[in-house]
Amino acid sequence: MLQQTRVDAVVPYYERFLRIFPDVYELAAASEEEVLQMWAGLGYYRRAKMLHQAAMVVSERRQGAFPRTRKEWKELPGIGEYTSAAIASIAYGEAVGVVDGNVKRVVARVKALKLRANDRALHQAADVWMEERLGELKPEESPGDFNQAVMELGATLCTPKNPSCAECPILETCASSDGLAGDLPLPAKRKEMKKYHLSFLVAHSGGRFLLRPCEGNWNKGLWEPPSFPETTEDELQEKWKKAGGEGTVGSAIGEVRHTITHHQIRATLFQLKGVPKSALRDPSEVPLSGLGRKVLKIPKSFTVTG
Ligand code: SF4
Repeated sequence: MLQQTRVDAVVPYYERFLRIFPDVYELAAASEEEVLQMWAGLGYYRRAKMLHQAAMVVSERRQGAFPRTRKEWKELPGIGEYTSAAIASIAYGEAVGVVDGNVKRVVARVKALKLRANDRALHQAADVWMEERLGELKPEESPGDFNQAVMELGATLCTPKNPSCAECPILETCASSDGLAGDLPLPAKRKEMKKYHLSFLVAHSGGRFLLRPCEGNWNKGLWEPPSFPETTEDELQEKWKKAGGEGTVGSAIGEVRHTITHHQIRATLFQLKGVPKSALRDPSEVPLSGLGRKVLKIPKSFTVTG
């Protein structure tokens, strides 16, 4: 839950999630929709889907036994290099290095590597450096504590701007402490954002909306009002009819913007009239997409009745 999300934002979600799914069996037995609903609001829904699938593997294929080694953890859905190393070292004491953005920044500076933050070569250099340092630990020293110490060093002292080198415990071994630090690593190459337009059809009455499960790559499994990509206003009614939809497309009622995985979405909202009330749903009953939640916030100044 904490990936790309602040701790204070996560705590209420985490507590509620554990109340609803107190152990791996309860999580595995839930439907994907139930899990997504408990995740709604945190974004990055792939994490929830993978967590659910991993719970199924642990409860069914592994009879409830959690993996212990990094190699075993990596076999679970959604668990990659970083998470497997973090769990194996922190929870089970395996001497494997964890490499995140903080660690890469520390290593780029300690070794004065003029590499971009997202250069694979920097990741590899950080892997090697962490492995070497872990090899120097005494038997009573914990690999998990060491990993967390380097990540914490990056988060608190070796910060992206104005690092606090004078307070740094590894100042003497750092090749960048003489003022080069603030420039390293070099800025990451940014991926170009693609622009995308969606037309949403919005029907609602008494706080209930016409909602559908999304079919696109990003939001699969989540719900939002029906939409059509790259469609002109004139084409909307025909496309809606062809899709088997009920009701008449009315005028545009607003616009929202949303960014998701290198796509900038501009969404135009159109009123949809004449939809039977029985087709409308309470939004709290389904896992809404982030974009869907924005769309539903548009002023509810019109009503659709059957
Ligand atoms: S001395 Fe400065 S640049 Fe080097 S690791 Fe410490 S905080 Fe980072």
